[in-house]
Order: sequence, then structure tokens, then C-alpha cells
Amino acid sequence: MGWGLKTFKCSFLIWSLFFIGLSYSENFDFEKAPKFKFVKEATLAPPILYYDYIIIGGGTCGCPLAATLSQGARVLVLERGGSPYTNPEKINIYNFVSALSDISPSAFAQQFISRDGVLNARARVLGGGSVLNAGFYSRASLRYIMESGWNETLAKIAYKWVEKKVAFKPTLLQWQAAVKDALLEVGVLPYNGFTLDHLYGTKIGATIFDKDGNRHTAADLLEYADPRRISVYVHATVHKILFRYNIERRRPQAYGVIFKDALGKMHKAYLGKRPKNEIIVSAGALGSPQILMLSGIGPASHLKAHGIKVVLDQPLVGKGMADNPMNVLVVPSPLPVEVSLIQTVGVTKFGSFIETASGLSIGHSWAERLQGIFEFVSNQSGKPSSVMYPPETKEESVGDTIRSLSNPILKGGVILEKIIGPRSTGHLELVTTNPNDNPSVTFNYFKDPEDLKKCVLGMKTIIDVINSKSFSKFRFKNMPVEALIDLMYHIPMNLRPKHASPTLSLEQYCIDTVLTIWHYHGGCQVGKVVDLNYRVLGVDALRVIDGSTFYRSPGTNPQATVMMLGRYMGEKILRKRYFPGKK
Ligand SMILES: Cc1cc2nc3c(=O)[nH]c(=O)nc-3n(C[C@H](O)[C@H](O)[C@H](O)COP(=O)(O)OP(=O)(O)OC[C@H]3O[C@@H](n4cnc5c(N)ncnc54)[C@H](O)[C@@H]3O)c2cc1C
Repeated sequence: MGWGLKTFKCSFLIWSLFFIGLSYSENFDFEKAPKFKFVKEATLAPPILYYDYIIIGGGTCGCPLAATLSQGARVLVLERGGSPYTNPEKINIYNFVSALSDISPSAFAQQFISRDGVLNARARVLGGGSVLNAGFYSRASLRYIMESGWNETLAKIAYKWVEKKVAFKPTLLQWQAAVKDALLEVGVLPYNGFTLDHLYGTKIGATIFDKDGNRHTAADLLEYADPRRISVYVHATVHKILFRYNIERRRPQAYGVIFKDALGKMHKAYLGKRPKNEIIVSAGALGSPQILMLSGIGPASHLKAHGIKVVLDQPLVGKGMADNPMNVLVVPSPLPVEVSLIQTVGVTKFGSFIETASGLSIGHSWAERLQGIFEFVSNQSGKPSSVMYPPETKEESVGDTIRSLSNPILKGGVILEKIIGPRSTGHLELVTTNPNDNPSVTFNYFKDPEDLKKCVLGMKTIIDVINSKSFSKFRFKNMPVEALIDLMYHIPMNLRPKHASPTLSLEQYCIDTVLTIWHYHGGCQVGKVVDLNYRVLGVDALRVIDGSTFYRSPGTNPQATVMMLGRYMGEKILRKRYFPGKK
């Protein structure tokens, strides 16, 4: 565990290279007033409640879905985490790392380690992943929208509805501009300027951080809700969905849920008598398959092994779990750099997305550690290693780099690549029957050779960017990329075996140093667990609507499409409820 924790922190170091983290911790105070009057502590909920729609998970998808449904029906949202409004500073741009690396039981991030040995996190807060994430906002491609069976016009309208509240145009600064120019120089063309659309070439995308660094999350979309028709309970963990057997339709039908408040008291929420009332699971890629299994929908043998009564033998629940691998290079800079989040993105034709961020405050202890690693890499003498450095490398450039790493406000940035898809998939299994515990997840990074090819091509593009003329002012002269690769090998970023060698291949680099970009998805995929309208196959009055239904991650980054989906499906469900015959 000791090493795991150390490694875990190291992996956050990579991200902390992006941001100035003020890193203070706040006490958990679950009775503080939330922003909306209809958001309340679950301890204040009555023992029995009745609603038209019960949404499990007030996350990135659950919030826009709930806000929309409340415009035509009575909606209950049950979110296991707290309110992001109790302390907005805690989630602003400067506290990205501290919020993400908080390991207290009340933290907004719940850490997990996949069976692949990659450190990861999932949300536990109203607003879900949008409260924790790096903020980049970009729509899915037209092809993705068509393949998902969504109406293009309605999807665009739903995106705009989201963007009115949470999407901002960033100001392009020097580092980001240099990477943009470098991407164009190395052929990631054309330049598409600032756009929310997913287009081949280089572009500037939007962010959910405003100009002052305040985060605008999916929870802000609750501003659209009708306060008379919505109740949101936080610290409300759903333990089970309740089913009865519908004799006429000869299948199980969901009719309620059991949830626990922060004081351990159980409550029951039931669907009212009106037809078309439903329970909607929006608990995310880990939470949705988990709660289906805990409620008796999943692979029968697995459920029985955990003593769970089988409602429906559904072997595909928990299958198709995928996480887009992320590989990075940290680039120390001789010039001061601005603090920047992801703004510039290169969308390549070979299926790799190049993103970047700069500016960091890693604190003295991390600066010393990084400096130590670099000195070690440089044979502990400031001299370049014969393996990694060409003979003409000047000693002073190594010394300059070491000095740049010794500053707690480190000058430099990160250039990363995420591959499209991915094609490699894994599975999720229960470990315990407690919904607060993490299930076990295997993503099988790079199992499909096509994924590895994309990673290698992406890494080659990053190397070309670093070696380009446009980027030259932000890198140390004569400091070869091999040294940067070597540096990455010495930061314990994950729990996987390392194979550093003089003849290191980029394939091996991708496999050994893989990180998550937190875009994991799957587990309740369309066509396998839910139909095209997100209804759970074989069961009545139950849908799953969130990132767990995806086959691949949408766009360069998923949150825009996850929020759009909440709005899109909310409108569709209301249309079908009130105008069933109308197209
Ligand atoms: C660190 C990080 C950085 C990221 N960076 C970006 C980025 O820059 N751009 C981008 O587009 N995307 C980014 N993402 C990905 C994006 O945020 C996620 O894909 C998205 O938030 C997933 O939304 P969701 O609705 O599927 O799940 P979530 O937002 O996770 O919502 C699920 C909710 O359900 C709740 N829940 C689960 N189980 C239960 C239960 N039993 N009872 C009650 N509630 C429950 C959870 O607490 C959670 O709030 C990032 C994610 C992370 C974690």
C-alpha cells in the first residue's frame, strides 16, 4: 500500500505539472447550505417518497437529465456524494490536483486502481466527473452522433443548451500557441481555430473554467430545473433497485429504490402510479453496472457467488469496459511558462489526439524529488548518460534542466496523447455488495494491436512537436527527447513492470508508462444492456443513461457529449410521455 500510495501521488504529479495547487484540505461539513433550495441532505428526506422519475446518480449526465425531466414531471435525484457548492474554491482551477488526490472518505474523488495497475479516480459528488475533471469541452464528431442514432439537429440544440451555462472560450497563451504552431508545422492540418466541433487538424477547444478559474459543472445545469418539481438529495447512496414481476408482460419491472443517508438511515423511494414513470440509472461507467448487479441484473453465476438474488441473468452487464490510454512527456522549459489548461488539441487522422498544458507548482518536496530523479537519469553527475544522450550534448544544458526542475514553481509543461476508441476492452466485477466499495475493473490497455499502433504514432507526433522550430524556445538546447523519455521512466506513474533499455521502443514506452485520461466508459452498452432508447433490455421501467452506455469515448474528450446526452434523452422521454404517437 505504501508504494501504491507513493505511486498514486506520482501519477498526480504528472497532472500537477499543469496546475498551481494551493493544496489545503477542508473539513467535511455535510449540513452546509447548497446553492439550490431543492438540493438537500438525505438525512432530511422522509422515510418514504414518491416520484415520477427517480434518477440514481446526480453526475455529469444525471444533472442535465433531471433538470430537463423536471420541466414535465416530478423528479427525484439521489447522489451519493456531497454538494460542490459548499466550498467552490475547493474545485477551482488551482485546486485541480488537491481535489483529485484527496483520499479522505468524504472526498469528491474516489480513488481506484484497475487490475491493469493504472491509478484512477471516479466522482462522488453532485455534478459527477465535471466537478473533478480538467475542464476541456469539445463536441463529438458528426459520425459519432449518427452512429449513436441521435438526431443531428436535436443533438446540436442539446449541446447549445449545455454550452449556454458551462462552456467558455479560453485565452490562448504562449505555451499553448507554441504547441498549436508546432502541430501545424508537423502536419496536423488544417488549422480550425476556436471551435467546439470535432474536426481533423489543430484546434482550440472550450473549457468549463471561466476566466477567473471558477469551475462550472453539470450541477450548474440544475439552474434549468423547475424547482417545484425536483428534489435532489446528496449523501444518498442507492443500495438497490426494487423489482416486481409484471405478469402481463412476463418480465421484471422496476418500482422503487432503497437508499441510505449519511447517518446510516435507510429510505425508500417509489415510482408514483402514473404510467411511464421510470427509474433511470446515471451512476457512471463504474457505478451503473455496479448498481444493476447489486439489484440482481447481471451474470447469474457472478451474482449468486455474492449471494445476490438474480432478477435477470444478463451476462453483458459489466462487459465492454474501456479506458483510453494516455501517454505523456514532461518538458522542462528554459523560459517561464504560463499556467494553462488544455486548450490546443491536435486531432490526427491516425486516431491519436494530442493535448497540452503548462505551468505548475509542485512544492519543494516534489521539486527536490524530480531534481533527484533527473540527476539520477544523468548519471548523478550532471553528465549525460551515454545511452540516452548524443555525444555532442553540452553539460551545461543538463545542469540548466536540473536547475529548472529544482524550482517548486517548475517551468515546463506536459504534452500528452490519447488514442481514439479504444478497441481494447475489459470487464467489471463486484468485490463486495456494498455500493460504496469500488468494483474490480480490468481495461486491458493495448490488448488490441491497433491501439498500440495509434499510441506509437501519437508519441512520434509529440516528439516531432518537441523537436519543431515553433516549439524550440520552450525546450532546452541539446536536451534530446530520449532524456525526457528516460525521465518519465524514473517517475513511478503506475504499478506496471518497467522495461527501460538502451534500445527502448516506443511500443514498450506506451505499455510501460500508460496513464488514464479518466475517459473510461462501457459496462451497460447500447445494444447489449440497453436498447437505442437506453431502456434496460428484458426489464420494464428502467433505463441507464450515462457514459456506461458508450462503445467509445466521444470527441477528443467526453463530457460535452455526456451532458448533451442527459438533455437530449430528457427531452425525448418527455416527448414520448406526453405525445406518444408524434414523431
Ligand atoms: C480527473 C478527470 C479528468 C477529466 N478530464 C476531462 C476533460 O478535461 N474533458 C472531458 O470532456 N472529460 C474529462 N473527464 C471525463 C468526464 O468527466 C467523464 O467522462 C464524465 O464526467 C462521466 O459522466 P457520467 O455521467 O457518465 O458519470 P459521473 O459524472 O461520474 O456521474 C455518476 C454519479 O453517480 C453517482 N453514483 C454512483 N453510484 C451511486 C449510487 N449507488 N447511489 C447514488 N449515486 C451514485 C456518483 O457519485 C457520480 O456523481 C475527466 C474525468 C476525470 C475523473
